[in-house]
Order: sequence, then structure tokens, then C-alpha cells
Amino acid sequence: MILPGRTVGVIGGGQLGRMLGIAARQMGYGFAVFDPEKDGPAAQVADWQVNAPYSDLEAAQKFAAGVDVITFEFENVQAETLAAVEKLKPVHPSPKVLATTRHRLREKDFLNSIGVKTAPYRAVRDLDSLRAALRELGTPSILKTVEFGYDGKGQFKFAAAGENIDDQAEEAWNAIGRQAAILEGFVTFDKEVSVVAARGQNGAYHPFAVFENEHREQILDLTTWPADVSAIAARRAFDMAAAIGRELNIVGVYCVEYFVHGNTVIANEIAPRPHNSGHLTIDAADVSQFEQQLRAVCGLPLHTPVRTCGAAAMAQLLGDLWQDGEPAWDKAITGPNVHLHLYGKKDAKAKRKMGHLTATADTVAEARRNVENARKALSGPSPSGRG
Ligand code: AMP
Repeated sequence: MILPGRTVGVIGGGQLGRMLGIAARQMGYGFAVFDPEKDGPAAQVADWQVNAPYSDLEAAQKFAAGVDVITFEFENVQAETLAAVEKLKPVHPSPKVLATTRHRLREKDFLNSIGVKTAPYRAVRDLDSLRAALRELGTPSILKTVEFGYDGKGQFKFAAAGENIDDQAEEAWNAIGRQAAILEGFVTFDKEVSVVAARGQNGAYHPFAVFENEHREQILDLTTWPADVSAIAARRAFDMAAAIGRELNIVGVYCVEYFVHGNTVIANEIAPRPHNSGHLTIDAADVSQFEQQLRAVCGLPLHTPVRTCGAAAMAQLLGDLWQDGEPAWDKAITGPNVHLHLYGKKDAKAKRKMGHLTATADTVAEARRNVENARKALSGPSPSGRG
């Protein structure tokens, strides 16, 4: 057991690391960050940071030497780096989990091997195999690079009844940088949901809930809790997440994203870390996904999470909101039970996740309305100077 007073190290320095660091400080842990970027969101709340590329093994070893346990918030870290730090300190979840979840083809093969249904897919190695996959799966379908893809990056959509599919195949293959990929058949769904869960070192499984997610341009835009899905669909989502955690032997917080159509539940992807859709647990549950992560990686008892309000909604704040200057923060937080979370990023680029708002209320409709109104108010004129 790694008790408060010891130091937790996180590989990756973004907002997930920052919120983990805030939870670590609250519980009296030291907190250290390994991030190529200096003074990023997580480093701002850390005791110390190591700034070096993830491929710098000496830096990785120096980082590992200074901490008591290691977790990560960024998945695309070289296997050699993880192997080097694992020799020095415990790493949770295990790098073996990452090897599966960071690679879309291995991930889909794994899910199907344990009986968890996914979209139909084919491995794509070159233009010929893409053309063959398109003939087999048809359109609409979506080409995704096997590695380094997130928030719709490294993806190409083939529209239904696309014309001249052979030309389109070439365009798609070039667009994703001519690299290993999978072609996925399009899934018809009514809803996208996720289960965020914690799994302890003794195998204890503590799901938070089913969260309902809406994406805009493939980036998570809005999460609501409780999700409006059937009890059967919810049970299936919980059971699949439990099986995934068990089979991969995950220690820590992880998220499984699903497509739901009636009672049919299809897994899309696994994130072996706290997830964007779990951010509302900070304001709407008696334990946040970040505190659970700390408890799991440090070997402390896990909490059985309980929602502390009727309902909650989370709205993402993207860099686009800054296009006319600093958003009107005072306007947003005047709404009832609306909470602001900013990630400390200096450069507000379009589509970059800069922060989020959470609203708690008696009903989902009310929480959603309040959080959306708060977000809209951010772009309105502000008495504090924003024109
Ligand atoms: P991903 O990068 O796999 O999480 O995909 C981002 C978003 O694109 C998902 O949340 C869906 O909204 C959409 N999407 C991805 N794959 C599919 C699919 N096979 N069928 C339908 N929609 C998809």
C-alpha cells in the first residue's frame, strides 16, 4: 500500500494529470509529472516535473527513481520507456494493458475474443487491403489509424453510397498518412454511452455509472448522468466493462465507450485511465474518478461511488470559445449549481480541450439546460471588459 505522504508519478501532463494531481494533493500525496511540455496543466499542480521526450530513457529512470508509484494519463508512450520505469517502480495499469488498448486492431481482436461485440472491422495494411475491406464492409464506413488516433484524428469517413469508391480509397489512404489502420463498418445507434469504473489490486470492480455522451465533430461535447438507456442495456454495459477489466487485469480507473441501439450494446473503445465522460464525478459523486484512480494505484480500499444529486451534465469548453478574446467567466458561473473547471492551457487553439462546466440539478433536462446556457453565456458580452 502506498500511503499519503508518498509520491505518485504520472506520465503525461494534460488535464487528466492535472485533476489527478489536485486529488493527490487533497489526500496528502506528493505528485510528480513526466511531460515533454514545460509547465503544462498537470505540472502546474505538481511538486516537481521531469521535462523530456518520452523516448528519453535516462529522464524516465530519473522520474521513476523519485516517485513511489506510477500511473499515466497519456497512452502513446513508447513500450521501452514503460519497460524502463516498470523495472524501478510499480506501474498501474500495467503496460501490458496499454499495449492492447493503444492499438485499435489489437483492442478489437481482444474484445471479440472475450465475446464483447464491436463494429465489424477489417485490418488495413495498404491500399489494396483497404479496397478489399471496402468491398467486404461497404459504406458508410470509417477508416481509423491503429495508433495515435484520438478525437477523430487519423480518421476518414466513407459516406453511404459514395461514388467512385476506388478513388476515395486512395484519398483516404493518403489522408491518414499511409499507415496501418482498420476499416470499421458504421454502427447504427440511438445513443453513445460510457461506463467509467475502478478496479482494485484485489480485483474489486466499482463502476460509477452509465454516462450518456454526445459528440460534436468526433469530440465529446456533452455528458449527462443518469443515462437514458434501458435497464437491460445498462446491465450489458456494466457486465462488459467488468469482463474487460478482469480479462486485462486492469488496476486503476478505466472507461469503455459503447454504441447503444435499443437493448443492443456494442463496444467502441477502451481508455485505461480516467475519461472525459467521468469529469462530472468531481461535482456530482461522493468520490471522483481521480480519487478512485489514486486509491486503486496506491492499493487503498476503493469507494462504492454514489451520485450526490438528482442529475448532472458536463459541457466541454474548446479553444474555439476564445476566438473573440477571453470568455466571460463571470456570466457562466452565475447559473444555479454550475461549476467551472479550467485546465491551465495557455494556447487556446480551435478544438483544443481547455476546460469544462458541470451543472448539477434535480433532473437531467434541467442540468443540461443550465450547463448549456452557462456555456452560451461565455460568448456573450461581459461587464468585466469582454466586448
Ligand atoms: P473514436 O475515435 O473511435 O472514439 O470515434 C469518435 C466518434 O466517431 C465516436 O464517438 C462516434 O461518434 C463516431 N464513430 C466512430 N466509429 C464509429 C462507427 N463504427 N460507427 C458509427 N459512429 C462511429
